[in-house]
Amino acid sequence: MKSYRIATIPGDGIGTEVVSAGVEVLEALAARDGGFGLAFDHFDWGGAYYKKHGRMMPEDGREQIRGHDAILFGSAGHPDIPDHITLWGLRLAICQPFDQYANVRPTRVLPGITSPLRHVSGPELDWVIVRENSEGEYAGVGGRVHQGLPIEAATDVSMMTRAGVTRIMRFAFRLAQSRPRKLLTVVTKSNAQRYAMVMWDEIAVEVAKEFPDVTWDKAIVDAMTMRMTLKPETIDTVVATNLHADILSDLAAALAGSLGIAPTANLNPEREFPSMFEPIHGSAFDIMGKGVANPVGTFWSASMMLDHLGEPKAAARLMRAIERVTADTALHTPDLGGRATTRQVTDAVIAAIKADNE
Ligand code: NAD
Ligand code: MN
Repeated sequence: MKSYRIATIPGDGIGTEVVSAGVEVLEALAARDGGFGLAFDHFDWGGAYYKKHGRMMPEDGREQIRGHDAILFGSAGHPDIPDHITLWGLRLAICQPFDQYANVRPTRVLPGITSPLRHVSGPELDWVIVRENSEGEYAGVGGRVHQGLPIEAATDVSMMTRAGVTRIMRFAFRLAQSRPRKLLTVVTKSNAQRYAMVMWDEIAVEVAKEFPDVTWDKAIVDAMTMRMTLKPETIDTVVATNLHADILSDLAAALAGSLGIAPTANLNPEREFPSMFEPIHGSAFDIMGKGVANPVGTFWSASMMLDHLGEPKAAARLMRAIERVTADTALHTPDLGGRATTRQVTDAVIAAIKADNE
């Protein structure tokens, strides 16, 4: 029997609550399927680890997870530690060296969930946002001089490379091509940013030639926010830079009902390194420890992980179980306007997995 080794990194805040729920659900799926096994290795990296050791993960941390088949991640972010330290010390310290350059963020209005958009009943909003995940605005290039003095200066430089832009465009066109509508929107800001964003646009035109069956258009990022809210049905697959897609995907999650249900995959498509799966939300300090975090974003991410591992049947079974549970408003957590707990939602999803007969 095939067995996959999964590294789990719950991190901080509600990350720990949703990842343990995710592991339970994955164990139930493997048991129901019978065709594959899952072995989990847990890593206690994050804010508490930082307080003890002065770093978010051990120096050889990446070596410890290099050989795993996939990583299930919670959140990096601790109330007592600056965000740039937790983010760069853990999440980006894995994403960037493991070259997980394609960040894939599907958004749908799941059954039983109400979009805040009054003209959206469900099918009008079915998107996948592809985020460039290795360079651009989050390349980490920049610096500060004269710190603390009146003449202090600071830069964050957005670095774009031809290789980096070409590979994310290809990935996005290929993904758009695999979806029924074969429709891609390339998000840009080349009106105001005259160098890297213009190269981004030019490479889109070049790569588009390889995909004559994909219909594509261009949208300026600010106009894109309007289109997402007013004309969601005109959008299918979207590709955007690291920063733009970061912002647009939080908007997408909110328009689909809650940040708590939104999943993401950080993919190294060439499979030279393990890929990482995580809910898009953060540590949610306001609700941590209360047992009310919505675990659906993590479950959906786990479904994407199973797809990536080559277990599409189990991935689909998990999505069916999630949708059965979201359809019942009595099983909605407070972020969706309900009163259910993480425990109740997790138990209901596990029960739906066990009852699934397809
Ligand atoms: P957040 O996602 O943690 O929370 C935003 C709001 O959404 C909060 O009101 C929270 O209660 C709610 N929310 C988020 N997830 C939810 C869930 N599963 N169920 C119910 N409600 C949910 O964003 P933030 O407040 O901007 O950031 C808090 C910390 O998390 C910061 O330290 C930040 O750096 C970190 N963070 C980490 C990641 C990551 O590791 N991928 C992502 C975003 C934020
Ligand atoms: Mn974000």
